Amino acid sequence: MPSPRLCNATILSHTAAGRQYYRLVLKIPGTVSLPLPGQFVMLRVTDTIDPLLARPFGISSVLTRTSIEIFYRVVGRGTMLLSRTRPGRTLDMLGPLGRGFPMPEKGIQPILVTGGSGFPPLHLLAKALKKQKYRSVIFIGARDRSELPPAGILRSFKEQASALHITTEDGSAGKKGLITDLFAPYCSLPDRSVKAKIYACGPTPMLKSVSTVAAECSIPCFVSMEERMACGLGACMGCSVRRRAGGYLRVCKEGPVFEAEEIAW
Ligand SMILES: Cc1cc2nc3c(=O)[nH]c(=O)nc-3n(C[C@H](O)[C@H](O)[C@H](O)COP(=O)(O)OP(=O)(O)OC[C@H]3O[C@@H](n4cnc5c(N)ncnc54)[C@H](O)[C@@H]3O)c2cc1C
Repeated sequence: MPSPRLCNATILSHTAAGRQYYRLVLKIPGTVSLPLPGQFVMLRVTDTIDPLLARPFGISSVLTRTSIEIFYRVVGRGTMLLSRTRPGRTLDMLGPLGRGFPMPEKGIQPILVTGGSGFPPLHLLAKALKKQKYRSVIFIGARDRSELPPAGILRSFKEQASALHITTEDGSAGKKGLITDLFAPYCSLPDRSVKAKIYACGPTPMLKSVSTVAAECSIPCFVSMEERMACGLGACMGCSVRRRAGGYLRVCKEGPVFEAEEIAW
């Protein structure tokens, strides 16, 4: 894998997307390798020392050889400062970083599960799977309608999927309930003739439930973890998660994608 580069990424477009998200399109140098589904970049607003550290973001689409699309929501100071940047400005970008999702073997059915703001890496994965003619079943959960992926991304998920299932906890869109309410029965269908592989990204409690269902149904499962991260390069151990076999795994270096059974949930 080529080593990640620190570079300047120029903001081509930066707009609100739905009620909760921002869509950021970055122009990246042609010398930077294109991200694989599940990889991420560290972004830092230049000219500020607060926060000093860059913040990690997944990639939702590779638009051209030199432009990528990111969706994020504002949760703290770093994302708030990012949300104030305008087209034409440059950001410090490091990446692509980490290990992405392994593509399934031929004949395997991909099952994608996402919750909350975990949809960007799964969108890039869904597009890559469709390109290779896989028939993905996609499950998207959110607390309410406003937390669902923005309309354009939802439409795109629909285009990539052979079936799309949506839940919201308050019932404002899709079925009322948790996404695992639909996902679990689907995985345990008694007449399942096609072998499957599960790919998930979202809040840790959702990933834990998904991995439990996967283990019960003996379906291999890969989860992308979104721990808080400091260096992004494996040096500080700040993003470590506990490993089932003992010790720790660094989300930025060994992940962010792990086999679910590797993690001590
Ligand atoms: C590999 C990876 C990919 C990511 N991809 C995306 C993405 O595509 N879109 C997106 O919106 N976000 C994504 N995130 C999360 C994003 O990096 C954080 O929201 C961001 O770093 C917060 O920075 P901040 O300075 O705004 O907030 P901070 O001031 O650092 O934190 C504000 C609040 O948010 C909480 N918080 C911060 N980071 C996280 C986290 N990772 N998980 C749970 N709570 C957190 C803190 O505990 C605190 O309460 C990703 C994280 C990782 C590790």
